[in-house]
Amino acid sequence: GRKFPAPPHTRVLTVANQKGGVGKTTTAVNMAAALATGGLRVLVIDNDPQGNASTALGIDHPSGTPSVYDVLINDVPLADVVQPCESVPGLIGAPATIDLSGAEIELVSMVARENRLLKAIRAYLAHREEAGEPRLDYIFIDCPPSLGLLTVNAFVAAQEVFIPIQCEYYALEGLSQLLRNIELIRGHLNPDLHVSTILLTMFDKRTNLAHQVSAEVREHFPVQTLETWIPRSVRISEAPSYGQTVLTYDPTSSGALAYRAAAKEMAERAAALAEAPRPSPSFG
Ligand code: ADP
Ligand code: MG
Repeated sequence: GRKFPAPPHTRVLTVANQKGGVGKTTTAVNMAAALATGGLRVLVIDNDPQGNASTALGIDHPSGTPSVYDVLINDVPLADVVQPCESVPGLIGAPATIDLSGAEIELVSMVARENRLLKAIRAYLAHREEAGEPRLDYIFIDCPPSLGLLTVNAFVAAQEVFIPIQCEYYALEGLSQLLRNIELIRGHLNPDLHVSTILLTMFDKRTNLAHQVSAEVREHFPVQTLETWIPRSVRISEAPSYGQTVLTYDPTSSGALAYRAAAKEMAERAAALAEAPRPSPSFG
């Protein structure tokens, strides 16, 4: 297919939602793969001790693998832990191992504990530039559902928050708390942070509920919510067990086409979003 437009700068997005199982990891890896398939250069940082994003990218991550844990705790450069996603050219990943579960506590006593991921990303981008490597277009940070120091590091490292919302009961539960936390981060640690993108996932267009949730989300976030929604699809949920994203596992499936359309929409919006006034989301 045709190449997607590259953003004017490396876009760093934290994929966040305090609820587990809403499609954060699935969205992080598939949006990343779709953008890479569109000709862009993309890094996924697996910032969740579960390591589900690493699995979906086909990157082995047994305990002891050089990982995000070493980046956050041992000052290991991101360049030393990043690995290619073999099935998708242009896509690379920084894996998480179970060791990362200890980082939440180890970080507490560290200097500048909220800024460690930010510093690592800045150093990595500078390193790539010095080494003459091409600029990264997108960095997605996959987060655990909690709002601990791992997630705080991701919010400090990003300019944008990407929120996947599952079109199910209680979809909006916890969203106002997430937005309050983002406001706190803006006020104290990262004034640039803003919710730039919302994606409706696991959408079942046959149910009234899905349409209700969709309407409510679009009412509150008219600018941020992508037109494209992601259908509930078995192929999407099967792909990780083959160490693949749905983009390569079944490229013509409804799920792959939807993520590709969402990625295209996001890439094409990038310029417009940069111009738009800073959204100040209010909800609840
Ligand atoms: P989170 O990272 O928010 O915990 P996941 O991305 O791991 O959520 O998704 C939770 C579960 O839902 C996983 O089993 C995943 O395969 C499945 N899933 C995610 N998106 C879809 C979808 N569009 N259709 C079907 N299953 C999905
Ligand atoms: Mg996850």
